[in-house]
Amino acid sequence: DLADIGVTGLAVMGRNLARNLARHGYTVALHNRSEGRTQELVREFGGEGTFVPARELADFVASLKRPRRAIIMVKAGAGTDAVIDQLAALMEPGDMIVDGGNAHFADTRRREAALREQGIHFVGSGISGGEEGALLGPSIMPGGSKESWEALGPILQDISAKVDGVPCAVHVGPDGAGHFVKMVHNGIEYSDMQLIAESYDLLRQALGVTPAELAEVFRQWNEGELGSYLIEITAEVLEQVDAETGKPFVDVVVDQAEQKGTGRWTVQSALELGVPVTGIAEAVFARALSGHPEQRRAARSLEGPEVSGDGAKELVEDVRQALYASKIVAYAQGFDQMAAASKEYGWDVDLGAMATIWRGGCIIRAKFLDRIRAAYDADPNLPTLLADPTFAAAVNLAQESWRRVVTTAVRIGVPTPGFSSALAYYDGLRRDRLPASLVQGLRDYFGAHTYHRVDKEGSFHTDWSGDRAEHPA
Ligand code: NDP
Repeated sequence: DLADIGVTGLAVMGRNLARNLARHGYTVALHNRSEGRTQELVREFGGEGTFVPARELADFVASLKRPRRAIIMVKAGAGTDAVIDQLAALMEPGDMIVDGGNAHFADTRRREAALREQGIHFVGSGISGGEEGALLGPSIMPGGSKESWEALGPILQDISAKVDGVPCAVHVGPDGAGHFVKMVHNGIEYSDMQLIAESYDLLRQALGVTPAELAEVFRQWNEGELGSYLIEITAEVLEQVDAETGKPFVDVVVDQAEQKGTGRWTVQSALELGVPVTGIAEAVFARALSGHPEQRRAARSLEGPEVSGDGAKELVEDVRQALYASKIVAYAQGFDQMAAASKEYGWDVDLGAMATIWRGGCIIRAKFLDRIRAAYDADPNLPTLLADPTFAAAVNLAQESWRRVVTTAVRIGVPTPGFSSALAYYDGLRRDRLPASLVQGLRDYFGAHTYHRVDKEGSFHTDWSGDRAEHPA
């Protein structure tokens, strides 16, 4: 029997995706560079469905129904290029190659364009949810042609997570759109984690409470508007005790956060698009700061404030509010970035649909995403999430708490770049006049860069080195 779909690259992600497909009744062709993984999958999980294992890639391709549908789940980068080249050489016009790895969207655009020449549909697809998501239902963000979505959509929706019966898989847009939104998803994930880490740090330092006590705080927060996967697992990590030493787990882990690069990519793209994603950028930089132990050692004697603790119990609710408001800002920025990219690359991304497919399966899944979807349902052209009445009300309600939190953090010397930068963004956005007018004046002074006036059309330049009269530019 020919297979409905195939998976090549059977490490954790590919293996679980193949099993997920088989469990949904699809006949799944299997291939991996080293055959051991293929054999292991069939040996351990062969009973879960119908698999067609192949040792050679040519046999794998030959075992697929036409038009062929092959998913690649290999190490991102050169490995992906190699596998695409080998597959494309064996395929025919109309066939589809799905890259489910974490590729950079620019690579996906390049690969899609090259394969289109051959008549092959290349689908760069974000897949979120890690190992468990791949098996039980991930959030799936495919890019590529409309035709490929027609052939792949029903399968991807079948194996994706469902929330209220709605699948967490939707066609994002052409070429690199899927990998782009997956990248922003990961950037937002960085920001969510940074805000959670700041909440933990500030409460622990200010109140002198234990990680286990804070686990209880996060557990309570998870019942309310912050309810989400990351808040839920924060409680579990905080209450974990190290078996060897009996100390809190968070106190025996080296405090240097690592990164695989999707957060950095998000910020690089935002810089190019001119979108201020300060929440994500601060999260990436906070990880970078943590990763410089030599500088941190050298700076340990630098002075901090006299006060250390600040025992007010009300701080817990204030931090909850600051976390929620800062989270709204970070998502507003991430959604701005998707809107800007959609315009720049002609993707026509439906932002409300992105909120919908992130409600389940993925790492940032949260109740909160229902509100984002509702905001875009109410106004698909929302200029910023902060303009949505529900979110505006939430940040208005939170802002006094938010300011107290940042003030407390500054007073006792606990770094909260996520909270502080989100608040600065909020205050910047809501200002009637910004000091950018002075910046424009300085630019015109030293570089004759010209400026616009509030009361007249056109560009102007002041003759700063001469009589200081203004001239139309
Ligand atoms: P890895 O990223 O560890 O990649 C290992 C797989 O890639 C193996 O099957 C390996 O084959 C294959 N491979 C590597 N280089 C080549 C090559 N040159 N030619 C052929 N095959 C090659 O696997 P994961 O399952 O962790 O991830 C797969 C993809 O999914 C990655 O792009 C990752 O970024 C992405 N992803 C991962 C998530 C996760 O939670 N792990 C979540 C979401 C996406 P062999 O067995 O022969 O060495």
